[in-house]
Amino acid sequence: MQRNNCGTVWVRVVLMFTEYQCCFCGQSIEPVGPDVGGLLYTTNIDRLPEKQHDQQLWCHARCLKQHVHPSVPLYVLDLVEATANEESE
Ligand SMILES: [Zn+2]
Repeated sequence: MQRNNCGTVWVRVVLMFTEYQCCFCGQSIEPVGPDVGGLLYTTNIDRLPEKQHDQQLWCHARCLKQHVHPSVPLYVLDLVEATANEESE
């Protein structure tokens, strides 16, 4: 088992199964499309690369939709729905 602690975010790997924690609700994320989703947070994005640090976070798609302002398009989730619709046709 590996454990990566960055604040309250964790990833636990047991044999071939990886468990992810949602950065919004704190619950485990079941690997059912479009989950598991990831976010990349970068500090000082407008500065030189050596001033930047980044962190990968994971979240439920439903939690992301709840927390992102309605004016921000989440086109990646639209793409997932479009792909699912194409596959069902
Ligand atoms: Zn969540």
